[in-house]
Amino acid sequence: MNLFNLTIHELNGLFKKGEATSRDVTESFRKRIEEIDPKVNSFLYTDFDEAFKNAEEADRIIKSGKNFPELCGIPLSIKDIFLMKGKKTTCASKILENFVSPYESTVTKRLRENGYVFLGKVNLDEFAMGSSTENSAYHITKNPYDLKRVPGGSSGGSAASVSAALSAGSFGTDTGGSVRQPAALCGVVGLKPTYGLISRYGIIAFSSSLDQAGVLAKDSLDAAIMLKAVAGFDEKDQTTRKFDIKDYPAIVSGASKSLIKGLKVGIPSEFFTEGLDPKIASKILEMRDLFRDLGAEIVDVSLPDTKYSIATYYVIATSEASSNLERYDGIRFGYRFKDENGGFFGTLDDLYRKSREYGFGKEVKRRIILGTFALSAGYYDAYYKKASLVRKLIIKNYRDAFKKADIIIGPTSPTPAFLIGEKMDDPLSMYLSDIYTISINLAYLPALSIPVGVVDNPSWGGFLPVGMQIVSPWLTEDRLLSVARIIEGEIGFRDKYKPEFKNG
Ligand code: GLN
Repeated sequence: MNLFNLTIHELNGLFKKGEATSRDVTESFRKRIEEIDPKVNSFLYTDFDEAFKNAEEADRIIKSGKNFPELCGIPLSIKDIFLMKGKKTTCASKILENFVSPYESTVTKRLRENGYVFLGKVNLDEFAMGSSTENSAYHITKNPYDLKRVPGGSSGGSAASVSAALSAGSFGTDTGGSVRQPAALCGVVGLKPTYGLISRYGIIAFSSSLDQAGVLAKDSLDAAIMLKAVAGFDEKDQTTRKFDIKDYPAIVSGASKSLIKGLKVGIPSEFFTEGLDPKIASKILEMRDLFRDLGAEIVDVSLPDTKYSIATYYVIATSEASSNLERYDGIRFGYRFKDENGGFFGTLDDLYRKSREYGFGKEVKRRIILGTFALSAGYYDAYYKKASLVRKLIIKNYRDAFKKADIIIGPTSPTPAFLIGEKMDDPLSMYLSDIYTISINLAYLPALSIPVGVVDNPSWGGFLPVGMQIVSPWLTEDRLLSVARIIEGEIGFRDKYKPEFKNG
């Protein structure tokens, strides 16, 4: 049995019966990473010293016979946007090339308290800006289903590492789709919870009114386990509230098909726009029929203002990014420009300029310039304020839709994984990758993507995964994950499809 192929709940079952140790599992992942990651390139760095230390500690807890958390002894990868004390955190940017964090994010702190095993940091688009992981300053991560294609982004390293069984699960972030879109492209589950459900303390900020941590997992029960471990109030993050944190794994593992009977499922026409690949559209319509066969009631809902989502997002996200990224000035932390003599004797202004010129990549610069313009004197009302008003309309659209529907379904991404390089010279077409995910962040809602099937790979006769997005009202992650659990049971994606690491 290959331990790296098992889900978190299956590994937990083995630990409980004493049939495997965390050390065995960690060793299995170490070998798998050594064999496969040179093809996929999902990790920015691995940390096996730390991993085996964590595993030893976890095995002690497991052997002590006490009740232990479901994540105890489970090897995970972490998007390199989460700060971890004493560990390098680059955010895939040269400006943080040698940055070692002085403190720990709340997410990784809670993971530690749960006894997880830290395998290493995985790749992303620089500062989480992108949809393909090609904007990483370090290397390109490949899609495990076709090594010439992107894994999606910005949590592409996370999604690829879970898809290729290089980690049992991964934590990422989702500002406009960065957990769900790569999950869809790599054939794994990606959950973006309600804004404020998971603390963002110690996560490098991109767009503060949109950023949310999320999980990438092999199935929705694993996603429930990962969510429960980190969700909840944190006095260090004012966007968290004293929400009632449900026992997601218990609810999800108890979910039965009767949940779908009478469930009102909305399919908005706005999720079937011009750029949608017809094969993906037909997969989603098959899913609608599956829901109907299981006894759901399909209802008409409309989200008329979501057609402005991309425009709204790119004003809000770039404005907030320009402000959040001001701190990388070459003075306080991160890269500082040095001239050929190893010092710098120009003006302060030159130092800022040169440090930022070298330290930031093209896409990050583009966004800083856009956002700075949008916030500049005289333009604030025309851009940021107007975008905030449109955002209110989008929130209202969803509120109205959820008066009629219990969940909303649609495609996660308009296309399957695209070719590396295909969209790099056309930022607008790259931005359209998130056309179905962005409105959910604008409305602070929870949503997930589950793999629902495959389409033919036009390159070489293989196949590429397709994700379906499910959206539900604020703080109903239990409903979302339970519905996903039932659908994945009907489809059996994990038993049918595995990445083949071809076309390298
Ligand atoms: N792809 C979107 C962007 O480039 C979303 C990124 C994200 O969710 N972090 O901004």
